[in-house]
Amino acid sequence: MSSLFPALADGPGERVALRFGERSLTYGALAGAAGALAARLRDAGRVAVWATPELETAVAVTGALLAGVPAVPLNPRSGGRELAHIVTDSAPDLVLTAPGAEVPAELGRLARIEVDACAVGTVPEERAGDTDPALVVYTSGTTGPPKGAVIPRRALATTLDALADAWQWTGDDVLVHGLPLFHVHGLVLGVLGPLRRGGAVRHLGRFGTEGVARELNDGATMLFGVPTMYHRIAEALPDEPELVKALAGARLLVSGSAALPVHDHERILAATGRRVIERYGMTETLMNTSVRADGPAGTGTVGVPLPGVELRLVEEDGTEVAGYDGETVGEIQVRGPNLFTEYLNRPDATAAAFTADGFFRTGDMAVRESDGGVRIVGRKATDLIKSGGYKIGAGEIENALLEHPGVREAAVTGEPDADLGERIVAWIVPADPGAPPSLEELAGHVARRLAPHKRPRVLHLLDALPRNDMGKIMKRALVADA
Ligand code: ATP
Ligand code: MG
Repeated sequence: MSSLFPALADGPGERVALRFGERSLTYGALAGAAGALAARLRDAGRVAVWATPELETAVAVTGALLAGVPAVPLNPRSGGRELAHIVTDSAPDLVLTAPGAEVPAELGRLARIEVDACAVGTVPEERAGDTDPALVVYTSGTTGPPKGAVIPRRALATTLDALADAWQWTGDDVLVHGLPLFHVHGLVLGVLGPLRRGGAVRHLGRFGTEGVARELNDGATMLFGVPTMYHRIAEALPDEPELVKALAGARLLVSGSAALPVHDHERILAATGRRVIERYGMTETLMNTSVRADGPAGTGTVGVPLPGVELRLVEEDGTEVAGYDGETVGEIQVRGPNLFTEYLNRPDATAAAFTADGFFRTGDMAVRESDGGVRIVGRKATDLIKSGGYKIGAGEIENALLEHPGVREAAVTGEPDADLGERIVAWIVPADPGAPPSLEELAGHVARRLAPHKRPRVLHLLDALPRNDMGKIMKRALVADA
């Protein structure tokens, strides 16, 4: 196939491609460093990348892609059993790290290459085919142990070009990045995206509102974040005029990886006049839908299918939801060149994930609005509560709870109930731990906004919700602890 990174071979050599903290690389320097690494990797079967938020991680993945050697990004904050599982499962020949990086015992037996960001080599011709594996990315482990999704080169090119179309994303864009680099969001969208466009990425190392304000006020044009980041932004806006100015002047603010609470979306809109664009994707499918930069901007919608993505909603009995009525809930199923090939070493899970006609079952439930926009109701496994003959999505109750001034964070689950089938359980982090809202108060608040049958029947007060490193709420941990 053609090159994943045309700007590396014959792009603007002097232009900055990557900046991580104080260190940066131009396209010319990145071509040298990644080219030199690619030459050393030519005989490897598969390489792990110790994915710290550093320049070397971006060079490592770029070098592996140039060499046509599949890369497995590892979470440097994971350890013990999870890391051991991923290393055993993916069986890399060696691990790429930044110079001097300390790696845990689970990696001890692997040969290691310390990536030299100053090396000078040449960009090889990319020989790998479009269905050859480019990355093995482990899912976030929100609903079970992480699974290794084998992502072909074609999927990377397809999804990044589809996003360029939806977001009018060009080589002039400069991205502010504060996410980890071992998932699709931070690595594929956040690093490979700007490199494929010939633009730049500035990584904050650690997300913070000051860094976001500084970079957007200093020439950066777009921000990618997870909902917990936009929540922190929404909280900080009243006290940080520089942040207001930064967001108001940004070209594009994008949220994904989990649902953006309506309350945060509205607070950001009110303070800055800017809407956050939501996109919806998965490790297995890369990006499926997005609100378009040139399309209608809805709150609570993840937009329309991206170019090349076939998307349908399928009810429990197997019938496809016809038309866009804004009401009928079905499972999102997708097909297209953006899809992964298989779960590594999991033929049964792979087979179960696809329908006979080649659609991937996402496990996410949604409705379609009259304009075709997809509104996600939640995950089939944890967010759909069957109570009193109704199917109720946890998300809209969470959104209603978050509008209550006494609620800082909220998650909703179902638990078995003799009468109702399931009853609605609210898990709340109160705004003031000394004076938490009562169940009665919250039930009344929800019943007035939604419908009486959507009110919570059980309330748990917590100091914090269990979240993974993408800020996703781990509902299975909540339920296990109950
Ligand atoms: P695992 O598959 O291991 O349980 P995971 O599904 O969280 O973990 P990812 O592939 O990182 O792993 O996440 C994909 C999921 O994230 C989607 O299936 C969907 O549930 C959720 N998601 C992503 N973007 C959005 C969004 N904009 N709105 C709502 N949910 C989203
Ligand atoms: Mg998943």
